[in-house]
Amino acid sequence: MSNPKIKNVKVIFTEPDGIRLVIVKIETDQSGLYGVGCATFTQRPTPVKAAIEDYLAPFLKGKSVKDIEDIWASSYVSSYWRNGPVLNNALSGIDQALWDIKGKMANMPVYDLLGGRSREAAPVYVHSSGDSNEEVGDKMESFMDQGFHHIRVQVATPGYATYGNKSAKTGTSTANNKDVSKGPIAITSWLTDYNPQKNYAHPGGVFEPVPYMNSAISLFEYIRDRFGYGVEILHDVHERISPIQGVWFAKQVEKFRLFFLEDLFSPEDQHYFEMVRNQCSTPIAMGELYSSPSDVNPMIKNKLIDFIRIHISDIGGITPARKIAAFGELMGVKTAWHGPGDTSPVGHAANLALNLNCQNFGIQEAALFGENTKKVFPGCPTLKDGMMWSNGKPGLGIDIDEDLAAKFPFIEREFGGAWDTVRRADGSVVKP
Ligand SMILES: [Mg+2]
Repeated sequence: MSNPKIKNVKVIFTEPDGIRLVIVKIETDQSGLYGVGCATFTQRPTPVKAAIEDYLAPFLKGKSVKDIEDIWASSYVSSYWRNGPVLNNALSGIDQALWDIKGKMANMPVYDLLGGRSREAAPVYVHSSGDSNEEVGDKMESFMDQGFHHIRVQVATPGYATYGNKSAKTGTSTANNKDVSKGPIAITSWLTDYNPQKNYAHPGGVFEPVPYMNSAISLFEYIRDRFGYGVEILHDVHERISPIQGVWFAKQVEKFRLFFLEDLFSPEDQHYFEMVRNQCSTPIAMGELYSSPSDVNPMIKNKLIDFIRIHISDIGGITPARKIAAFGELMGVKTAWHGPGDTSPVGHAANLALNLNCQNFGIQEAALFGENTKKVFPGCPTLKDGMMWSNGKPGLGIDIDEDLAAKFPFIEREFGGAWDTVRRADGSVVKP
């Protein structure tokens, strides 16, 4: 049997539809045999490129592609200090490309290498965001008409920055039909009197937890009133409220029977999930900010979450993700891999391989790929009947058209495309 060796490792930057994607291509000494992997870290792409080109590529050149486990383990410790989104994204690009190559060598899709399928396709959720409850509801209706059964809902908080709604970023939205000062929490007088627009201009916007929680609860009331309980709704807090407010919020929303409540706490505060578990049965999803394969261990071991939300390129790719999924299966925890537009189509193909294989798959976040993206990545997973489908081709079943990718170079951004700083009304920083 042939034993191909790693000949070249390339890092490709491309931005076909407004999101900066980082793709790794491993070429072997066997003509036509190569693989692709996702190493996308939109906020810090250039250090990922350096970690691969300056360190991993020379380290791996000439090595056999066969032993992915050994390559993963030796690359992981080759920096001595390990983890973090830069090093793990670099490693993920290598790891996914090697799985792609192994599948092509075996003439099997990666889900077959992992043990075969548990399901035909992977149910997905899509995002419905709006300036008002009606707008969110109308978008939901349109998604439901297209066959989606799981929808993440986010509504603007009038006058404040709101996660999941770009039009409300500057705090100018006033279209929400609900007065947030009349929600389940009374707004304290200092906040009612406070006009964030007048007093301080924060470029990332002003966020306050109390108006946010009132508007989110009003949205859930509206949706259940309009659609009943026949559609699954999800919601992302994005870690913006204090831990004890999070405990209260999880209890308040229990009655709306969410499919899951996401990122209620930041990883630094995740011990608070124990309080949530002891007080309500709202399903919990957590983990997109994890940047080590072991961050999720206590959450699974102590049954503090229901869905693993890890962004798999941030923990090093398929190799660690499949082990975490197996641990979750043993402990009754499902997968819901992070998958917005800043997971490249190659990363989505890697998620899909796991989703088709793993018994404990829960749901997949879908990205609605733009037309340019579909052209740059031939073999993109497709969406039909509310599910993501594989094309069944060997490896990850996806490729990159390098010539076309080069026609969509990165667009320069302020501060290199860093995440916006959102602030409280008093000017202090909100996570994240
Ligand atoms: Mg999220």
